Amino acid sequence: MTKQGKKLLVIGWDAADWGIIDDLMAKGRMPHLQRLIEKGVRCNLKTLEPRLSPLLWSTIATGKGADQHGILNFVEPKPDGQGLRLVQSTTRRTKALWNMFSQSELRTHVVGWYASHPAEPIQGVIVSNALPEDSETDLDPDVIHPQDTPLDFKELVRSKPVLGSEQISTWLPRYREVAPQDDHFLKGLIQKMTHAHHIAQISEWLLTNDPWDVSMVFFDTIDTMGHEFMAFRQPKLSYVSDKHFRLFSGVMDAVYEWHDQVLGRLMAHTNENTNVVILSDHGFQHGPGRPATQQLSPDKRMEMEASWHRTFGIWVAAGPQFRQMNDQLSMSLMDVAPTLLAICGLPAGQDMPGRVIEEWLVPQTAPNRIQSWDPSAQNDGMHPPNRISNPLEQVATLKQLIDLGYLAALPDDAAQQIDLVERESRYNLAGYLSFARQYEKAASEYELLWMKNPSIARYATGWVQNLLSAKQYVRAQSAVQDLLHQHPTLVEGYLLQSNAFLSNGMRTEAEHSVEQAARLNGQNREHYANVANAWLNIGRVDKALEYTRQLLNLSVGEPKIDILVAKIYLAAGQIERAAEKALDALDMSQAIPEAHFVLGTCLAWMQQPADALLCLDMAIKLQPDHVEAQRFTKILKGEEIYDEFDSILDRCNAFIPYGSNAFKEMYHKQ
Ligand SMILES: [Zn+2]
Repeated sequence: MTKQGKKLLVIGWDAADWGIIDDLMAKGRMPHLQRLIEKGVRCNLKTLEPRLSPLLWSTIATGKGADQHGILNFVEPKPDGQGLRLVQSTTRRTKALWNMFSQSELRTHVVGWYASHPAEPIQGVIVSNALPEDSETDLDPDVIHPQDTPLDFKELVRSKPVLGSEQISTWLPRYREVAPQDDHFLKGLIQKMTHAHHIAQISEWLLTNDPWDVSMVFFDTIDTMGHEFMAFRQPKLSYVSDKHFRLFSGVMDAVYEWHDQVLGRLMAHTNENTNVVILSDHGFQHGPGRPATQQLSPDKRMEMEASWHRTFGIWVAAGPQFRQMNDQLSMSLMDVAPTLLAICGLPAGQDMPGRVIEEWLVPQTAPNRIQSWDPSAQNDGMHPPNRISNPLEQVATLKQLIDLGYLAALPDDAAQQIDLVERESRYNLAGYLSFARQYEKAASEYELLWMKNPSIARYATGWVQNLLSAKQYVRAQSAVQDLLHQHPTLVEGYLLQSNAFLSNGMRTEAEHSVEQAARLNGQNREHYANVANAWLNIGRVDKALEYTRQLLNLSVGEPKIDILVAKIYLAAGQIERAAEKALDALDMSQAIPEAHFVLGTCLAWMQQPADALLCLDMAIKLQPDHVEAQRFTKILKGEEIYDEFDSILDRCNAFIPYGSNAFKEMYHKQ
């Protein structure tokens, strides 16, 4: 039992999205989740970059970023160089919640969590994410900890459930009509839902038969099924055939419903002393703006697949430790571990960047932070140090061996696979460093990748972007030249070049670069948005305005586009239209700081400073490091002196209309 005598059940639904859940709840199709929300709190859970599930679920479990926890990909090279394996728990460089719970004498279950294989020797039970693919395969003993679990449990873990036609038809009522050439859809569905059933059965067995204080169950199904079937959901996308739409459009909703039913089954093992948390690591595109990845080549598809993942995942929490409230605020993935620790009466570490969301907890302060959970402790259930390995270093050794001819027998494709995984893991690390604003470090990771692989443009775009963010403008300009030399038709390259020119005070050259980018027409929303944004940034509002009609025609329900159009209108002095677009974005989600900021700016121009301040305040609440919102607040409150005023506005944005004088006159008449 936790100090307060409470239990904690955590259920992970990879990629669960409020857009679909709210739809289904309105129709009464997710009653169990709905009941929890009514009793507790719900909010948006803001994801991190890169949006890759193993990295994100490891952040959820550790309270740390990918640079600290070290899980950088789905797979890693095998130490013997003979191909790849699932990324291992031994690769994680810091304690997970289950280690912290274990050393705090809380008996813990973990089922199916990313990067949990080999199962760690905690106080409790772990079933790792390396469940057998089929019932014929021998069970890897490292899947289960402890080794001496009852035989019937081992048998349950070893044997995949078999789904009957009745069950299959709950997700795919007309599955008998699936044509032979679409057989892979049916097979994929059966395989993924079998896995989900398996996880549910294992969890239920544990909740019933093994005493527990904390139980953490993870389902990857909404994500893996989403990559196959979300394209078929309504509204029908242009590239989806009528037949596919008829067969598959209901699959995803039925999958969500199934999760709600399992939630009900798991909840049956809880009582008034159990805190229940349901969360996802990111959302999933489901509206008209869904990416068309199914038509891409396998290479390109791998690169683009993460664009399905939306910024906001879900967080639902209810139980004795939670207040009942309707809160529009969002929390970050980084806040999950500190908050879950607090629920159990345990302190967060000072080395965890997130915060405890105390507003939602019943009055009782979270314990003071300790320095770190990482020093080893009795019963922490970490693998012994000699099991811990760093996969990138292993590859380095491996490559040396290949170079020296010791491993010449290694088949070509395995070597290529390993090379790819090493590169992409480094790329993911660089992406995280950039997200965490460690631009210099990120730039050198990207530079390294680019130098070795000049055919891969995104390594160089990452390099240039981070040089710009690190304010190394001269280096950025020469780096972008490098990039365009190798990839002369890359739109993004010219847009970056325009940024670099502008940063170096070369305005004419910057305009020329945007023109070149515009000429390399992509004819799609992203392209128009990027070019319009570039024109806006260099102050050519006339050019940016030309794109607003296309942008609005091509996107319905895409807050990012509404915000961009709002900024363009604002810059053109069309304040009311701008406010309208900002409100459109806020209609879709209240949790977008940029939308509040733009609306606040509009209101300031409409001479409603009190309302403007409320909006800016909301932007800062949602994104405490929103520099522009902070500056604008100071300006409105008259806290900035005039001398600084012009330069602040210049730096702030290009979308303050009429230049700064008009604004000055409006608010600071002397
Ligand atoms: Zn995910």
